[in-house]
Amino acid sequence: MRLAALLLLACALPAQAQFRLPSLDVNRLVDTVKNVGKAVKDIEEPEEITIGRDVASRLLGAAPLVPDPALQRYVNHVGRWLAAQTERAHLPWQFGVLDHGNLNAFAVPGGTIFITRGLLEKMRSEAELAGVLGHEIVHVLRKHHLKAIQKGAQTALAGEGLSTALRDRAGPARDKLIAFGTEMYSRGLDKSDELEADRLGIVIAARAGYDAYGLPTVLQTLQAMNAQDSALALMFKTHPAPGERLDAIGEKMQPVLDAHSSQAQLAERFVRQIRK
Ligand SMILES: [Zn+2]
Repeated sequence: MRLAALLLLACALPAQAQFRLPSLDVNRLVDTVKNVGKAVKDIEEPEEITIGRDVASRLLGAAPLVPDPALQRYVNHVGRWLAAQTERAHLPWQFGVLDHGNLNAFAVPGGTIFITRGLLEKMRSEAELAGVLGHEIVHVLRKHHLKAIQKGAQTALAGEGLSTALRDRAGPARDKLIAFGTEMYSRGLDKSDELEADRLGIVIAARAGYDAYGLPTVLQTLQAMNAQDSALALMFKTHPAPGERLDAIGEKMQPVLDAHSSQAQLAERFVRQIRK
């Protein structure tokens, strides 16, 4: 039973210790991003990880982690088990539950993934958690955000002297840079990236031994909620509507769903871990 291996992945470190991310180094972020505009080749993996850590530390400043090491450890176990099934298993994967009532989840380049307490509380099984984390893992695998940063950097930095931004800490160029790093998390990715993350995320969850319907059932939960609910505002702004995502999944993924619908859901274990 592959899922039993989850328990063996138990990490002795409290989850908080895994999130000692370096504080934002604008100098490093800017240099990297600026070079990207000129570079013909892709961003190297160590730079991808560094950019991601800088962005993650900014996002953590906006919403702290839930101060529950056991919960953080549990979500890390599930996430790392999923990531271990992928071609980028070697990345420094880390998963964090943000202490926020809104429903959201997002991925940062290099393997850092956040999910909000609000979204976690709407889920009913580990398979559903795996479906959502699988979706976010795909964003990292396929470098969706990294490519968006790469593209956006050229516009954001246009006409702004890099040295000005660094010298004048209160100036508009500096503000622009700071805003740039987090902006894409309020704007969202291309729809095609989101639908790809749904499809491949389902494959990863199924490969890890979970009921492949985990992600679709979360989308059904979202669809059943009041679309005017302010807790959904950001997720609905940054993702295609749940109904559209479900349609796209049904169109392309039905055989995968059917073949893996009797795999583990682990509802009891999930509820025990989440609602303690
Ligand atoms: Zn997404």
